[in-house]
This record gives sequence, structure tokens and C-alpha cells, in this order.
Amino acid sequence: MQSHDSSAPGGLAAIFARLIAATGPISIAHYMAEANARYYASRDPLGAAGDFVTAPEISQMFGELIGLWLADIWQRAGSPEGVCYVELGPGRGTLARDALRAASQAGLVPEVHFVETSPALRALQQAAHPHAVWHHDLSGLPGDRPLLIVANEFLDALPVRQLVRTVGGWRERMVGVDSEGGFIPVAGARPMDAAVPAGSAGAGEGAIVETSPAAATVVQEVAGRLAMQGGAALFIDYGYAEPQLGSTLQAVRAHRKVDVFAEPGEADLTAHVDFATLAEVAEQAGARWLGTSGQGAWLAALGIGARAGSLARAAPHAAEAIEAAALRLTAPSEMGTLFKVMGLAAPGWPYGAGLSRVRADTTG
Ligand code: SAH
Repeated sequence: MQSHDSSAPGGLAAIFARLIAATGPISIAHYMAEANARYYASRDPLGAAGDFVTAPEISQMFGELIGLWLADIWQRAGSPEGVCYVELGPGRGTLARDALRAASQAGLVPEVHFVETSPALRALQQAAHPHAVWHHDLSGLPGDRPLLIVANEFLDALPVRQLVRTVGGWRERMVGVDSEGGFIPVAGARPMDAAVPAGSAGAGEGAIVETSPAAATVVQEVAGRLAMQGGAALFIDYGYAEPQLGSTLQAVRAHRKVDVFAEPGEADLTAHVDFATLAEVAEQAGARWLGTSGQGAWLAALGIGARAGSLARAAPHAAEAIEAAALRLTAPSEMGTLFKVMGLAAPGWPYGAGLSRVRADTTG
């Protein structure tokens, strides 16, 4: 067991402190990227004994319904041969296991590719999926076949960039060190007014504009591949339907929110995903945006109620737990509304089950 002490000599806090002392404050994006790389590299953060619980770890129903969604759109696209299942940040491999089992019952048995940087999680994925192929990023994925791409709680872990409005105009939000040696947010020295989207430029002092160039880059690459190769993609994450001001950066450790700046590398850093911007990025890169729905409404449309009922009939002793899991995934007070599902597809591919192209800003 390695010791997880961020301020120990090899710890990330000590490395950041030396770097900031030598070269000045580092950007929020740099801080988040390094902290999460360190965080994920060494551990399995999922589950009750870890730091957080994700939808596929709550119930097999989640992955199964994703597998059926993929099989359905693939069949309506004419069941093209040689299709690949691609998962970004597959965690323990649980979603892939449930999705591939359900998909195979519907006649879809794809080659399996995982994009994963964490050696610790790769080892767990390998045990569950011995025949999968691993990649560090999307660049090495097959380029000549349709791709069925899934990413659950992946985009929220990618680094965000923050700009803050100061008396002297917009600046990059950076991480510096206070008189006691603790990390604190500070405004950068260089004017950044040109980087602020026009709609936010007039915001008052203290306002923060948050963007995720890394998430946009992933969605752009996925969309470009769908346009070239065919296929469909599901991005599931917590986030907002429309862009908004303010920092959503948060740190979670042992199921509690903790200070983002307290122990870099020892807590999971995430930020809300800006789905409206990502839908635009996808369409500009040539993919079809199939719609973005609340996770609860989407799972309900795919039949989670019926699936929960049949699982409960097969295992009456577990009926209460199955019902509780379904509620946790779908209830508006739980994951049902905050979590959203964005579907993309190649231009010639059909619509996606349970999704509709109604933008939140056109409904009311
Ligand atoms: N999808 C899983 C795990 C979510 S946690 C689930 O729902 O349970 C985030 C996952 O993304 C982990 O597997 C983590 O190692 C991986 N990850 C985080 N940043 C990454 C990056 N930049 N490139 C590739 N994988 C990354």
C-alpha cells in the first residue's frame, strides 16, 4: 500500500509548491490535470470503500440499457459489420460488461477498445475484459470501421480552464501559495479579455467563466470519427444544459466534498459538463446531435421500470434493493436530472432511442 500524503516529499502538493516557488502560480487547468492524473494512476476510487459511486456500480440495469441502446441504433443503421465498442474511462469495466452482455443478446458482438490512462484501473479492466485493446487517447483507435462509443463520468474529470473578472479586466484563474504555504486561487498577471465568450464579457467583478478545452477536444475527435467512419456515441455526465457563470470545480474524497486546494492528487476533482457547448462542437465537427436528455427520463424511456420488475421477480429477496437502485438512477432528487445523456451519431445514422433534439433554450 502506498501512503497517500500529498505533502510528503514525493507528494503532489510538495511538487506544486516547489514549482510555484520557482516559476509563479500555475493555471487551474494545470492543477486539475496533474491532480487527477496522480489521483487515478494509483487507485480504484470507485465503490462504497472508495471515494465515489458511479451509475454502473449502482446497478447492472444502467449498463444493460446502454448496451440495448447501442444494439438498437446499430440494427436500425443496417447492422454494419466490423463495428467496435469503444469506452472512454471505463473504470472497473462494469458498464462494458453489462452493456456487452445485453448487446450480444441482441446480436451485436463488437471488438472492444478502451481509452484509459490509469495503470491501476487498466489492471481491473483487463481482468474483466481479457480480449480488449487499450489506448492512452483516441488517436490510436481503429480508423476504418464504425465506432459505438460510450463515456460515463469521463468528461467531468478532464481539466477546466477558468477566467476571473478582476478590477483590471479578465485574467486566468491560477493557483498560488498563501503565507502559510496553502494553495489559494489567484488572478493571473496577463490580460485575458480576448478569451472570454462575448456573452459573458460584461459580467461583474469576481465572475468566473469556466470552459473545458479538453472535453471539447474529445467530443470534436469523437464527432469527426463518427462523420468519417460511421457509428454513434453516448456521453453521460453531470452538468448543465446551458452555459452559466461560476466555478463548478469540486473535490470529493470518501463520499464527501473536500477543499479543492487541500490535497491535490488525493481527491477526485470534477467539474460540471457544459452539454450545450459540446453539442455545438459535435455538430461543427460533422456529427449529428441526437439530443441531450436527463438521465432519469432517458432510462425511463428505455424501459428501466420493466427491467427492474423482471429482475425483482427473478430475485424476490433483492426486490427492494433493485427498486432503490432504479430510483437512485432516475429520481430528480438523485441522479435523474443533474446527470444528462448526450447522443451523437454519424450523419447517415438513425435517431437515438429515448433522445429528442429539443434544446432547453427553445422550450420555454
Ligand atoms: N466510467 C467509469 C469510471 C468513471 S471515473 C464508471 O462510470 O464507473 C473516470 C474514468 O476516466 C477512470 O477510469 C479514469 O481512470 C479515467 N480517466 C480520467 N482522466 C482520463 C484521461 N485524461 N484519459 C483517459 N482516461 C481518463
